[in-house]
Amino acid sequence: MKHPQFAQAFYNSTAWKHARALKKKQAGGLCERCLVRGLIVPGVHVHHKIRLTPENLNDPSVTLNLDNLELLCEPCHQQEHQRETQMRTDAAGRVIW
Ligand SMILES: [Zn+2]
Ligand SMILES: [Zn+2]
Repeated sequence: MKHPQFAQAFYNSTAWKHARALKKKQAGGLCERCLVRGLIVPGVHVHHKIRLTPENLNDPSVTLNLDNLELLCEPCHQQEHQRETQMRTDAAGRVIW
């Protein structure tokens, strides 16, 4: 998953690396969605439930809030973003929700 250009600096920040490490620790290093289904899978991506936007990028209650973070394995993370893309745009790329 490639980070959007506007968020590059954020993802390189010490604050983010710290929050990400905390989240991984809190989740016990396991994919949270797989765990709900009884599967023990290591988590690799710390995902933002509320997506980062240029508007909320400087709001730590969104960007660094552990409640807004989810530890996911690669397939779960991809699935999440695919679902998002499908739900959000029609064939012409227009937002539909
Ligand atoms: Zn998973
Ligand atoms: Zn994500």
